[in-house]
Amino acid sequence: MFKALVLNQVDDQTVAEVKQLSVDDLPNEEVLIAVEYSSLNYKDGMAVTGTGKIIRSFPMVPGIDLAGRVIESASNKYKSGDGVILTGWGVGERYWGGYSQQAKARADWLVPIPKDLDSRKAMIIGTAGLTAMLCVMNLEDAGVTPDKGPILVTGAAGGVGSIAVLLLSTLGYEVAAVTGRESTHDYLKGLGASKIIGREDMSASARPLESQLWAGAVDTVGGDILARVLAEMKYGGAVAACGLASSFKLNTTVMPFILRNVSLRGTDSVSCPVERRTKAWERLASDLPESAYDTISRTVGLDQVVEVSQEIMAGQVQGRVLIDPNK
Ligand code: NDP
Repeated sequence: MFKALVLNQVDDQTVAEVKQLSVDDLPNEEVLIAVEYSSLNYKDGMAVTGTGKIIRSFPMVPGIDLAGRVIESASNKYKSGDGVILTGWGVGERYWGGYSQQAKARADWLVPIPKDLDSRKAMIIGTAGLTAMLCVMNLEDAGVTPDKGPILVTGAAGGVGSIAVLLLSTLGYEVAAVTGRESTHDYLKGLGASKIIGREDMSASARPLESQLWAGAVDTVGGDILARVLAEMKYGGAVAACGLASSFKLNTTVMPFILRNVSLRGTDSVSCPVERRTKAWERLASDLPESAYDTISRTVGLDQVVEVSQEIMAGQVQGRVLIDPNK
């Protein structure tokens, strides 16, 4: 028997309970994994609090991320004892996820833990860090380099934002961070932001073209802030958009695209092809400084998942929350 957080739907409310399960309760997938760590992402917060219909069927074990060791495998891609990471692919939404001491997964969903990482570090990174890296790679693919000018990161003190700020500053970029919380200013400067911009300033409605300020941007919030970011891009700049913490809507004009050659690059981590996600994990292992792992994280057990889920939905989480199902 092992512990897992199980979500059920009772009277239209999502109810979370830590339960004892057996391996026979797990879905019939190829690889059985002893979960060492999972993590909290915005989507997990939505799932656990029942916001936005993330869960497709109940009962569901949430947790879109997990890292651990293979116990047994019906696929020859992995063998007992291998360290593996699982993020995305609908896990924790359609398929049972990582808020559990054991999980089963398809071999094709897994990525080996890179040699410079362990399961704890991998889950401090998690989907948030993978997405931040994919955003950075998207900017690089668009030709953005440190000499082209500063990069703006929105929702900067959140999970994706924090890792984006740290990665970009470590790679030699000048980074400006947009945050709605004054309490995070020192934290963001510690991650390498050289300028802090208030969320209200970025939320003000923008003209089709504003002064050209940014060579690149990582946007985790969408809505009016993304519209302003686009209007403030330098000629030839690129925006990697991955999130909707403010809004899924985007009310903008074509002007930045047709007069300034700006590109808006969508960034998805859920169905990102294995080759690119493996490359992103290798880059994370090599590019993130060792200091990252203590600076940006805190650890909670399964019994605190509901509490931290409410916090992330209220925009109160700073950096990354690591979930230890064995705590
Ligand atoms: P967090 O909650 O950790 O971070 C989001 C941050 O956005 C908050 O910390 C806050 O930053 C800011 N924020 C919150 N509410 C608002 C608001 N109403 N208006 C403006 N800013 C706001 O979430 P994650 O970092 O895990 O995820 C960020 C976004 O990226 C989410 O929308 C998530 O769904 C999306 N995402 C997408 C992925 C993909 O594959 N495309 C993968 C992972 C995440 P501050 O306090 O600094 O202002």
